[in-house]
Amino acid sequence: MTTAYDLRCRECGKSYGIQPLSICDECFSPLEVVFDLEYARTRFTREAIQQGPLNMWRYRALLPVADSYEPQTPVGLTPLMKAPRLGAHIGASNLFIKNDAVCLPTLSFKDRVVAVALANAQAFGFDTVGCSSTGNLANAVASQAARLGLKTFILVPADLEPAKILNTQVYGATLVRVEGSYDHVNRLSSQIADRYNWGFVNVNLRPYYAEGSKTMGFEIAEQLGWRLPDNIVCPMAGGSLITKIRKAFNELIALGLVEDKQVRFFGAQATGCSPIAKAVKNGTDVIEPQRPNTIARSLAIGNPADGLYAARAILATGGWAEDVSDVEIVSAMQELAETEGIFTETAGGVTTAVTARLYAHGRIQPDELTVTCITGNGLKTTDCLNGAYDRSQAIRPRIGDFEAFVEEHNESGPKLSQDLVLAGESNGR
Ligand SMILES: *Cc1c(COP(=O)(O)O)cnc(C)c1O
Ligand SMILES: [Zn+2]
Repeated sequence: MTTAYDLRCRECGKSYGIQPLSICDECFSPLEVVFDLEYARTRFTREAIQQGPLNMWRYRALLPVADSYEPQTPVGLTPLMKAPRLGAHIGASNLFIKNDAVCLPTLSFKDRVVAVALANAQAFGFDTVGCSSTGNLANAVASQAARLGLKTFILVPADLEPAKILNTQVYGATLVRVEGSYDHVNRLSSQIADRYNWGFVNVNLRPYYAEGSKTMGFEIAEQLGWRLPDNIVCPMAGGSLITKIRKAFNELIALGLVEDKQVRFFGAQATGCSPIAKAVKNGTDVIEPQRPNTIARSLAIGNPADGLYAARAILATGGWAEDVSDVEIVSAMQELAETEGIFTETAGGVTTAVTARLYAHGRIQPDELTVTCITGNGLKTTDCLNGAYDRSQAIRPRIGDFEAFVEEHNESGPKLSQDLVLAGESNGR
């Protein structure tokens, strides 16, 4: 190999060099970026990384971008936070949250994948980029394409949350609302990418896009003091993120940056769209497509492109997958906000509720070092909390009114969601 990386078929191994392509023309399996780890060994060191910028580009030696590429947007390096108060409620004593609810620039982990995809879109000479999206990807593409001066066509299901639509249009992107589910939108996007020769981040640029997710794994390891956790709990839509965090850990092990350790991977889905979780529960990697019906719109992919590999990653590491109801999702969003001060979107409610269940069912032991991945921000999915809180009567600006108010409200402190409290109790707390 003369470059640091190339594109290979995941199944038959055929090499494709570096080009905008995501499917093998021999066997129709997905293509993946493979790094020459010997080449990376001298460049991807703890010292080199620590001297790098305070964002995801500190890991660029294992990202598929040209050496000459100059990143325009600082993305990633989000907080890894201890979660003692959430932990106390769910029976976890060594729990951490990787908080991509505050990933910049658009408040979800999708900023990471788009940063790498658009670097490649520019290198390949595309002047127009796009994506099919369940919302967060649309926001991330619109924002970063604006900064790079690229034209943008973004396709979303017509009934997406209003905040995610606004957060796309504000950047000047052309938004195409498509009748149907994400799976319809995605099929149309594949046809468009071919017909118009545009760079679609999750179609013909998908292998590059997917590598961006590795930075979440690199960060977790570095932030733990160059250690791997015992367990990762990760939300799944297309199933890419969970497999790429695992790939990141394996690269760190191969390069000797962390001690070798079997990390168990746990997947989280909403019951209303749970094809990967269902396969895992059946002990298989065969994914049966579903028609999504859940408030967790960002995870609502009924026919997940990387579902097979996600299921394999979970089964091979001794992990598990769970799915939770829409009611549990909202309760968990509230619980995470009340205990740790993190307002996550519905996808984060899925991850939090699944995390609670994994402890309650004894799939994760209380003292194991566990990182739960919060991937998006609650300000984008406020609709699901409509009616959840009383808008209290305004008071006159008088101390007497305030005293009366306190009198009335003193009893009712913040209420913790019953589901999760019970989950903790049934784990012996
Ligand atoms: C897209 C998305 C995911 C899942 O990503 P996949 O790599 O498709 O599995 C998780 N959380 C949020 C908030 C997302 O937008
Ligand atoms: Zn192949």
